[in-house]
Parts: sequence; C-alpha cells; structure tokens
Amino acid sequence: MITIDGSFGEGGGQILRTSLALSLVTGKPFCMENIRANRSKPGLLRQHLTAVNAAAEISGAQVEGNSIGALKLSFVPKVVKAGTYHWAIGTAGSTTLVLQAVLPCLLTAGAASELVLEGGTHNPHAPSFDFLAKAFLPVIELMGPKVTAKLERPGFYPAGGGKFTVSIEPAKTLARVDLMERGEILRQEGVGIVSQLSRRIAETELAILQDKLGWAAECFRVESVSDPRGPGNILICMIESQHITEVFTGFGERGVPAERVPSPTIEEVREYLAAGVPVGRHLADQLLIPMALAGGGQFRTLPPTRHTLTNIEVLKEFLDVEITVTKVDRLVWDIVILGR
Ligand code: ATP
Repeated sequence: MITIDGSFGEGGGQILRTSLALSLVTGKPFCMENIRANRSKPGLLRQHLTAVNAAAEISGAQVEGNSIGALKLSFVPKVVKAGTYHWAIGTAGSTTLVLQAVLPCLLTAGAASELVLEGGTHNPHAPSFDFLAKAFLPVIELMGPKVTAKLERPGFYPAGGGKFTVSIEPAKTLARVDLMERGEILRQEGVGIVSQLSRRIAETELAILQDKLGWAAECFRVESVSDPRGPGNILICMIESQHITEVFTGFGERGVPAERVPSPTIEEVREYLAAGVPVGRHLADQLLIPMALAGGGQFRTLPPTRHTLTNIEVLKEFLDVEITVTKVDRLVWDIVILGR
C-alpha cells in the first residue's frame, strides 16, 4: 500500500484528489495521513469527502476514514465502472474539484459515462466551470476522449446550488500532446456575471478591464444569471489562441467595491500575455496527470506553483514517470513528462 503524507508540499486537498485519481487508474491502494494539514481547518471537508465517496462508488473501493474532519484515510479500489453517476456536495464546495478525482480513470474506461455534479461551480481557489469547459477539457480532447461539460446553472459561495453535467466518450489510450507554443491570439473575451446583484457591478468591472487590457468594446458583455440560487459576481477572461485557450477567473466579494475586483485578473492576464507561454499556472498543475497517463507530453508555462511541484511528487509515488521542470527565462518554464 502506498503511503502519502498529506502535509507534504502544498498540503491541501489536491494531494488527496491526485492520489484518488491515480489510485483509480492504476488500481493501487493508498493510505493518507495528515490530510490537508496545511489548511486552517484540516481534514476532509464536504468537497473532499464527496470526492472520496465518488471515487469509491465508481470503483467499488473499500474505504476507511471517509467522514467529515478525518485526518487519515485508506482507499483500496476494485474495478472502475463507467456509467451514470450523480454527486451532490450538499454545500457550495467546488464541483470541478470533485471531477478532478474521478475524470482521469473514466477517460480510458471501457464505456461511456454521464456525470451530474451539484454544488459550487465558480469557487475561489478552484477551476471555474468556464475554465474547465474552455481551457482544460479541450486539451483532454486533443488526447483522444470526447468530453462535453454543460452548465445547467451556476452555484456561488455561500449558497451553492449549481449544477453541471459531463458526458465522456473514452479513448482506448490517451495520446501524447505537446503544448510549447501559443500561436497567434484569435479571440479575447471578458464576461462579467452577476447573480441576484445589479448589472451595474459587472459594467463597472468590465469598464476597468477594457481600460487596462485595451481590448475592443465588443470583447465584453454582462450576463445576469436567469435561475439564481444565491448572490454572486464573477469575471471571466478568455484568451483563445491558435494552439490553446486560457481562462482567468476573478471573484467579487461582499464588502469589496466593484472597482477593486478586476485587479488580480488584470495582473494574471497581463503576466500570461507578457510571458508568451501557452499554459497558465493553474492549467499546468492540472495537465500533469493526463500527460503522465498518456506516457509523456510537454508544455511551456509560467513559473511552477507549489500545486504543480506537489502534484509531480504525488505522481511519482503512483507511476513510473520522470518529470523535469526547467527554467528558460524568468516567466518561461518548460515541463517535460516522460513515462518509463
Ligand atoms: P484545500 O487546499 O483547502 O483543501 P482545495 O481542496 O480547494 O483546497 P487545492 O489543494 O488548493 O484544493 O487545489 C486547488 C486546485 O484548483 C488546483 O488544481 C488549482 O490549479 C486549481 N485552481 C485554483 N485556482 C484556479 C483558477 N483561478 N483557475 C483554474 N484553476 C484553479
């Protein structure tokens, strides 16, 4: 049994999700101690518990420690079964993070799967639904599987209530992908979304984005959620290039004036554009698993985050894989994944 120290590196929920994902694909059991030890509320929260239970359901796994607050877990998978599944977190916890744990094994399962996920769809510190659908899944499709995600309604913290579906047509194996160049920029888009809040908030935010990024007025639009389950305000910036699409998500917060909301997103977009790399910081840690499962791949990206470096170490625990991280320039790094 593989033993993983959950306090290692980033020390958050990603170590658990990556371990679940790799355990499902390889069939290797693992136990984890010190789960999310580096977080202010350590142990399994609802989002992590939903991921554990979802992984157990699709693989008939024997699990010990699947309870809220648990600091220790053991997970022994049996056989992964593709099929129809429905997972509701029950809070505004991130549904896209639950998907991170179960998606890899379904990409090469023997049959198609239909998933329904309910909870938060646009959470801070997690992939937004738009990032999942427009940035992450298109790279997965380059590897062979066909994966379509459809948003039924968004869910924001703290109300939650979001829902999306994922249809997966698996491939026999994952194909290797190289993402070393961004190519020409084909389209830029900035969307300000409000739920149970005034459109004026999004209009203010988009005016600032337009001024600071210098994109044409037609690139921007406001969307008001038609079936709201609670208040929310987000900003989505999409940059579609020849070889890749990247998505940057900003979050309005109660008590933070609309004028201040766009600045982190403006910084992220400017840095990405200045570096000239295809893969942004978040996509980088998320592409490591599928590329390792494909037996290799490489990409050019921004300086690696702790999430990326931690994911590399967890991957090496489960797979015979070599991953090199090389600095090309201050903002330009190459990551090469080589299966052995
Ligand atoms: P905790 O650490 O509290 O357990 P967590 O379970 O939410 O939190 P993390 O370990 O912090 O998980 O992992 C967050 C994941 O979300 C990483 O894969 C990271 O790349 C991704 N992520 C964070 N912010 C964004 C973003 N703005 N866009 C896309 N992906 C993001």
